[in-house]
This record gives sequence, C-alpha cells and structure tokens, in this order.
Amino acid sequence: MIEVKDIDKSFGDNDVLMGISAKFEAGVTNLIIGASGSGKSTLLKCMVGLQKPDNGLVSYDEREFTTMDYGERIDIRKEIGMLFQGSALFDSMTVEENIMFPLNMFTEQSKEEKLERVNFCLKRVNLENTNKLFPAELSGGMMKRVGIARAISMNPKYLFCDEPNSGLDPKTSIVIDELIKEITEEYKTTTIVVTHDMNSVMGIGDYILFLHEGKKFWEGSNKEIAHTDIKELNDFVFASRF
Ligand code: ADP
Ligand code: MG
Repeated sequence: MIEVKDIDKSFGDNDVLMGISAKFEAGVTNLIIGASGSGKSTLLKCMVGLQKPDNGLVSYDEREFTTMDYGERIDIRKEIGMLFQGSALFDSMTVEENIMFPLNMFTEQSKEEKLERVNFCLKRVNLENTNKLFPAELSGGMMKRVGIARAISMNPKYLFCDEPNSGLDPKTSIVIDELIKEITEEYKTTTIVVTHDMNSVMGIGDYILFLHEGKKFWEGSNKEIAHTDIKELNDFVFASRF
C-alpha cells in the first residue's frame, strides 16, 4: 500500500496541491482523475521523488519515503515501474534494448538472464518477436505496450502510469487499460494510473481519487461515481464525454 498524507506543493504563488491525503491499495487499479492542470502529474512526481512536496509524507508499505536519504530512496525506486506520459521510449534503441535498460542500470544479471526477462515481458504484453524493431516502426498502441514491458521488467511492487491512453484510439485504449488491470491483479502491484479519460474510469477504476484545483474533491469506486452528487465531479464527467 502507498499512503500520501497532507501533501502541499506550490510553484511560486501557484498552489498546485493542497492537503492531499489518500491510500492506494495493492492488487487493485487506483486512478487519479481530474481536469488538465488539476495537479495529477505533480502528485505522481511528488510520490516518486521527481518533485519535492512542500509539506506532507509519502510512504511505501509503511516505509516513509519523503524523509529518507538518497541511498534508501534508490532501494524503493528500484521497486517502482513507471510508464511515462507519451511512453518515452529511447528512439535510438531497439525494443529489446529499451526493456533491458532498467536491468542494465539496476541489476547484475547475465546477458542471458536479462534476455530471458525481456522475452518474458514482451510475451506478457503480446509483443513477442519484436525485439529488434525500433520505436519508429511501432504503432502508438505497440509503443505503450513496450513502455509497459519496460515498466514491469524489474518485477515492480509499485506501478505508475501517467496518461497511458493519451494519443490512442478508444479501442486500443481499452486494450491498454485491460492489460494494466490484468498485470495489477496477477502481480499484486500497487498501481496508480493518472487519467482524464472517463472510459478508463468506468472500465478499471477500483479506487478513484478526484482532484479539482489542487484539492481532493472526492474518492470512491467506479460503481459509486454515477451516484454522487458533487457538482465539480459531475461537471468533469460531463466534460469528459466530448
Ligand atoms: P495535470 O497533470 O493534472 O494536468 P500538472 O500536475 O501537470 O497537472 O500541473 C498542475 C499545475 O502545476 C499547472 O498549473 C502547471 O502549470 C503547474 N506546474 C506543474 N509543474 C510545474 C513546474 N515544474 N514548474 C512550475 N509550474 C508547474
Ligand atoms: Mg499530467
């Protein structure tokens, strides 16, 4: 479980996050939703240490991350798989080299072990035998799947995905959502997906944290969202239809 407690973050006089607290459980897909600019990516960055919150705590299975020193943080970072916004594959590397990158960085595995792991991950995302292709030769959906394969290469306990559906058609979006949900349930990862896509919310939202203008406005499941009466949330749901 990942817990955030009373997170504040400002950039100058722009208060981006104000007193955000939430608990994200393992084995279910946790979503952070909200309009563009509501602070979703900033919250994710505060959680993984890419931004420093002004106040508040982030803990990974009771291990308090925000106050750790650099060395201890690296140990937790190794347990985090990330699918960055826009996949962010290395263009000059093949699919195989992209997925192997974290293994080269963080492990002492032999070439054979690493290759075996790459092939396992590629098989998991249904992209076998694409090892030698370059990102430019892939479709948008395939790139996301390579991004997911790379994110799971280190067998993460925690999986973060920032806007995994951006730039995808609705059908491919569903495939990617389902893949994230399956992986979460299979490996019992604590998964957090940032999205502003209502289809994802209804499809995979076991737990949903709704941010509005930097504040936590609502939390609940996709089963509850239809029955809520909060104007800001209803406006968001309505706007997401277009
Ligand atoms: P979202 O992901 O929900 O679209 P962001 O977290 O990216 O929102 O941004 C929330 C607000 O924080 C925006 O007003 C954005 O301009 C501001 N912001 C984000 N990152 C930075 C930064 N590094 N420096 C200054 N302002 C930032
Ligand atoms: Mg964002």
